Amino acid sequence: MAFCKNCGTQFQDGAKFCPKCGTTTQSQAQINDVEANKIMAVIAYIGILVVVPLITGKYKNSPFLKFHVNQAIVFCIGWVVSGFLSLIPFIGVFLGDILSFAIFVLVIISIVGAVKGETKSLPLIEKVKIIK
Ligand SMILES: [Zn+2]
Repeated sequence: MAFCKNCGTQFQDGAKFCPKCGTTTQSQAQINDVEANKIMAVIAYIGILVVVPLITGKYKNSPFLKFHVNQAIVFCIGWVVSGFLSLIPFIGVFLGDILSFAIFVLVIISIVGAVKGETKSLPLIEKVKIIK
């Protein structure tokens, strides 16, 4: 949890504005970070293109990009797992389809979040930290 620097209202981590007074919760450095890395964050979610920000190393100086690249890697692992699940006869195809559909939905939610400049953690995935 974080607190508004203007009125002291407690708000959810990752919120861009204070729910009470509307003051931005981000520092100028954070805003610049988001603006500079937004496109790269979206690219990271397009399947194997997650390697692009990893190769450029830009995520190292960007908490915003690091957050999204980390989630994108988790999704990539999820795709691979769903592919393997599909190899199991009968039930595996069903499970693989459910998993890949769930990941697809999460990717869409995450891309929308990246475009909005948010770093709102998804349940479960926030526990997984692949890159540091
Ligand atoms: Zn406030």
